[in-house]
Amino acid sequence: MSIATIEVSLGALCHNVALLKQLSPASQVMAIVKANAYSHGKEKLASVLDDRVDYFGVARLEEGIELRKIGVKSPILLLEGFFLHDNIQLLLDYELETVIHCPEQLAKLTEIALPTSLKVWFKLDTGMHRLGFRCDNALSYFTQLAQCQAIQKPINVMSHFSSADVLNSEQTLQQLAKFDQFIDSVADCSIVGKQSIAASGGILAWPASHRDIIRPGIALYGVSPFNYNEEGKATGVDFGLQPAMTLKSEIITVREHKKGESVGYGLIWQSARDTLLGVVAMGYGDGYPRDILPDTQVWVNGRLVPIVGRVAMDMILIDLGPDTQVQAGDEVVFWGNESLPVEKIAAHSGMSAYELLTRLTERAKLHYVD
Ligand SMILES: *Cc1c(COP(=O)(O)O)cnc(C)c1O
Repeated sequence: MSIATIEVSLGALCHNVALLKQLSPASQVMAIVKANAYSHGKEKLASVLDDRVDYFGVARLEEGIELRKIGVKSPILLLEGFFLHDNIQLLLDYELETVIHCPEQLAKLTEIALPTSLKVWFKLDTGMHRLGFRCDNALSYFTQLAQCQAIQKPINVMSHFSSADVLNSEQTLQQLAKFDQFIDSVADCSIVGKQSIAASGGILAWPASHRDIIRPGIALYGVSPFNYNEEGKATGVDFGLQPAMTLKSEIITVREHKKGESVGYGLIWQSARDTLLGVVAMGYGDGYPRDILPDTQVWVNGRLVPIVGRVAMDMILIDLGPDTQVQAGDEVVFWGNESLPVEKIAAHSGMSAYELLTRLTERAKLHYVD
């Protein structure tokens, strides 16, 4: 049966880790594997990368627990911290590290005694204004945290950029300056652990932000965090990265189609010639965007051909042209090869590459190569 497949190259992944290390030679690496490793399958990725990176970062407690259950050894950080009091025992049970970003979490830690101490990271809000202690009162919270019996010292300090993808942003420089001001303001240096600010944008565009630990997400998967079409670098490949994911499926059938006939829901496209159409087992039910621009292309048997008509839940039609040799069962690539970077498809769908990757559904089956 023809199905949508998310093919993941483990070789590309290892190449990207090596390249990111080369770009930030003095830093340790935290591989960000939230959202099922941006749909690349976090279990497989974490087991392959366990010896190659220094930390893993996840967004949810459950993600961290799942990684421990399959035997991942590296430290795992909950980027959003814990939410409930009961979670603290799970952090200890599964040896998970947690970000502390708000007074509520701090209050919970202050009031309990723990059998072993927790490894925590202090999150500073340098300008994202989403999670983290505001710079104007962070020092008193940091001091309070350092006094908790329940936690290990020193405490790592982290922050996150709001605009690292804007290559000439004043905001990023201001955030860095605020971060440094905070570090300088802590009188007792022995309670300050490692520093971490840079995600993919910071790693690729802002070397001053690399610090002790870099936190690559999208770049790890070989994809650029910057907008496609922006001046200068546009795709992961332009930075020497290799896209890890190829999204592909197969032709279900090739059908005759007459000039002037339309195809699919809403009759949004009519053929200007007699042609052959391929029906492909891929749709928005697999996560391919329904509202893709007309003339977005796919790769089949060594050439690019356009999607025609509306993307449906389970099927997409492509115009193979009147003289095609393409047959049922032939492979169709939707993104991932040189001619079809995911960044380009993102631009054609009005979404970011982040969204395009993470919205893939479980119906698209993961398959690993190399
Ligand atoms: C998601 C996330 C990252 C990784 O971001 P990319 O842009 O994908 O590299 C790093 N740090 C934090 C706190 C995150 O939430």
